[in-house]
Amino acid sequence: MAKLYFHYSTMNAGKSTLLLQASHNYREQGMATYLLTAALDTRAGAGRIGSRIGIGAAAESFSAGEDVFGKIEARVKQGPLACVFVDEAQFLTGEQVWQLTRVVDDLNVPVMCYGLRVDFRGALFPGSAALLALADEMREVRTICHCGKKATMVVRRGPDGRALREGAQVQIGGNETYVSLCRRHWREEMGDRPPG
Ligand SMILES: [Zn+2]
Repeated sequence: MAKLYFHYSTMNAGKSTLLLQASHNYREQGMATYLLTAALDTRAGAGRIGSRIGIGAAAESFSAGEDVFGKIEARVKQGPLACVFVDEAQFLTGEQVWQLTRVVDDLNVPVMCYGLRVDFRGALFPGSAALLALADEMREVRTICHCGKKATMVVRRGPDGRALREGAQVQIGGNETYVSLCRRHWREEMGDRPPG
């Protein structure tokens, strides 16, 4: 039986690397995979999933309001599909996550989603909220804070190096940098806890 998977983490944990490796493993066995990424993520060039360690692969893109079930169903009609991989899955809408459940349940194709759990304010992304509710299996991709504890939060730092406390949830390709931290150090940077 196909399943809907959600691999979640904070920034810079290597999610795209894991996605690309998993897809490669299928393709090495002669099985076809379908790669999807958010249309707003142009870091690796349009329609491409790239990772920080330098590997990448061509991908289709999705944007809000698009019917991802229809896209995948059209691909399935062309030939067997072993697995669908979705990068930047936090940018899916709730409706699109429901569409992915139909890919799993009605087309019997497994769907592996990779994305961020919370934004820099500590709030769930819409896609992540829906995936946490609907995924059959969830796996945490772990990374660590500078203190060695597991990082579960992310801060967005402005050009001056200070953590931003407000702003749009989606901001890619700006002058800001993202740093993954444990909750305690995230609270310190956000001014919610005295340093120490
Ligand atoms: Zn820490």
